[in-house]
Formats: sequence, structure tokens, C-alpha cells
Amino acid sequence: MTQEQNATQESTTTEATIHPMTRKAADMSLAKKAISPDSHKAVLAGELSLEEARDLGRNAGPEGPAVRADKNDRSRPCLCGCQGTSKTGKFVAGHDMRMVTLAKAYVRGEADLTDEQLAYIHESGKLDRARAQVEKEDQKRQERIAKKAEAQRRKEGESEAKKSDK
Ligand SMILES: [Zn+2]
Repeated sequence: MTQEQNATQESTTTEATIHPMTRKAADMSLAKKAISPDSHKAVLAGELSLEEARDLGRNAGPEGPAVRADKNDRSRPCLCGCQGTSKTGKFVAGHDMRMVTLAKAYVRGEADLTDEQLAYIHESGKLDRARAQVEKEDQKRQERIAKKAEAQRRKEGESEAKKSDK
């Protein structure tokens, strides 16, 4: 691939706001076809971070498909509802696992989920997992209750016996 070819695409862009290193990295990314020419232009104009451009991929620019309306802000609230923001996806890193907990609360009728959360737990299979876990936990709880009741009965019997000893 030729660097010269790519260089022509940036010639008209304002480059004052971005770091020379970023610019170099953006050029490299474009040369490697890691980012689209549109993204490259936006990065050089300081409208898009290189990281975001890479997230968009080679086929999408800031104005391209599947891009949010505000191209300067790709961050979104974490889907788990923690008030955190994620720049890379639906979740703050690791918070997708919180959805299992949330799904379990939903299965138990203890939590109201948003449409988006519901769609996610359906699609990801976390709802099924949550249902299975809730079922298992309920079973265990029933067993515990039964055991406890049994132990209680035995204890009461023993203490009655002790009392009569004294
Ligand atoms: Zn979260």
C-alpha cells in the first residue's frame, strides 16, 4: 500500500486541534484500512477520537450507518442501570454479568426492567440462565427450610429432655 495515496485524502482537513502522534496513528489506521476515510477525516478534524474511529471500523464513518446522532459523544449509559457510562458497548466493562442478577430479580418479580434490558437478557440467553438459577435456588431454599424445621423439631425435643434433667 502506498502512503502517498492516503496522504491526499487529508490535505484539505484542519489539523490544528489534534496531536501529531494521533494524526500519524490515524494515517496508519487508514493505510491499514482499520478506519474509513470519513472517520480519518473526522479524527483529523478533532471530531472523533481514533479509538472511536476504530470502533466504527473501515466501513462506517461518523456520518455512516449505525452511528449515533452526536458524533462527538459515543458514550452511552451502562445498560445495567449503574449510572456509569460506556464508550465501547452496552456495558461498563464486566457489568454484563450484573444482568444475570437483574434478570433473576426480574424472574422473581422483584425488578422492573426497561425494554432494552429485557431485549438484552432475552437475546443473550441470560434470562434462561436466570430462570434456571432461580429455580435451583428456590429448590435449595425449600430444602433448607425443610431441614431447618426438622432440626428445630429435634432441638426442641432435646431441650425438653434437658429441662427435665435439671
Ligand atoms: Zn453498569
